[in-house]
Amino acid sequence: MKKQKIAIIGAGLSGLSLAKRLVDNHFDVKIFEKSRGCGGRMSSKRTDVGYFDHGAQYFSAQSEMFQKFIKPYVDDGTLIHWKPKFGHMDKAGAFTTKEMNYPIYIPKGRMTHWAKAMAEEFEIEYGVEIAHCSKNARGSCLFDQNRNNLGDYDLVVSTAPAPQTEKILNIELPNVVQMVGCYALMLRCNNSISIPFDIIRFEDDMLDIMSLQSARRDGDIKDQAMNILVQTTNMWAEQHLEEDQSDIAKRMTAHFAEKLSIPIDKLEIIRLHRWLYASTPTPLAGLDYIFEPNAAMAACGDWCVGSKVEAAFLSAAALGEEIIRHFK
Ligand SMILES: Cc1cc2nc3c(=O)[nH]c(=O)nc-3n(C[C@H](O)[C@H](O)[C@H](O)COP(=O)(O)OP(=O)(O)OC[C@H]3O[C@@H](n4cnc5c(N)ncnc54)[C@H](O)[C@@H]3O)c2cc1C
Repeated sequence: MKKQKIAIIGAGLSGLSLAKRLVDNHFDVKIFEKSRGCGGRMSSKRTDVGYFDHGAQYFSAQSEMFQKFIKPYVDDGTLIHWKPKFGHMDKAGAFTTKEMNYPIYIPKGRMTHWAKAMAEEFEIEYGVEIAHCSKNARGSCLFDQNRNNLGDYDLVVSTAPAPQTEKILNIELPNVVQMVGCYALMLRCNNSISIPFDIIRFEDDMLDIMSLQSARRDGDIKDQAMNILVQTTNMWAEQHLEEDQSDIAKRMTAHFAEKLSIPIDKLEIIRLHRWLYASTPTPLAGLDYIFEPNAAMAACGDWCVGSKVEAAFLSAAALGEEIIRHFK
């Protein structure tokens, strides 16, 4: 029997988990990813002083379906049930220890490792940015930025963030679905400083979270000194998205140093990353995915359901079921 050919745009968690579901159900799947690696917003940046996880810091698995999906990766050690020292700093600068009332997970090693483990199973073309798709006799065909035709498919699925999906599929999403940005600052701190927590959530206009990268690794010599990742609130990022990036990095560093009473000369700015589409305050109402069989196109991603890794999985899982129902 002829296999249905499905193109998936994006090798983040939604693209990879959807690909797995479809391949397991005998679809012929090809993924196109614009970056050089997989993971999307669950990824790591390589720097001269080691890796920084500059997107998601950890994730939870609260639904039974997601728990079932991650179980084999937990069992084989790709994912670990992480128990960081978790702190909360209130507006006045007082710390309290935060207890997580549900398990959280990170990949062993750096954030990209889980995506890499999943990606081994599929055909992925990296460094290809999809510009648009159009309807044809078979279903849909895909074009990259240089107008190269990337083939005909029975269905094209975009898992790119909402504004990028709108452009690729030439659709208009409800206005409420807006994605907001975040700055991720990579800092190096002299080892003589002691920070009492692995993760700190701030009650602050500018800063949202600090994460000690050394607490997430083992065996990487370069990580012995403290690599620190600091992320802003979405609201602060949105207010400062177009400002000078070196100025943003300096302001974040100064504010972080002041919050933790660290002498600023102990902090070295390694890099700043600007996420334009970090999270979705109001996801797609009532729909877990978009499926337009007559146009041979579909979309899924965290922005359909929420703002988290688990939302990305749940959206992809729901779309996967719909695709299987439709074609089988
Ligand atoms: C700073 C930050 C902190 C976060 N913290 C947490 C957290 O602590 N816990 C949590 O659960 N979640 C967190 N998240 C959210 C989490 O990372 C996302 O919900 C999840 O990774 C989204 O997965 P996705 O597959 O839907 O999208 P993505 O990971 O964005 O994947 C989409 C992929 O599509 C690719 N793409 C886009 N356009 C094109 C194109 N034209 N052609 C080809 N490829 C394209 C992108 O390169 C990307 O790889 C955070 C996100 C950010 C940015």
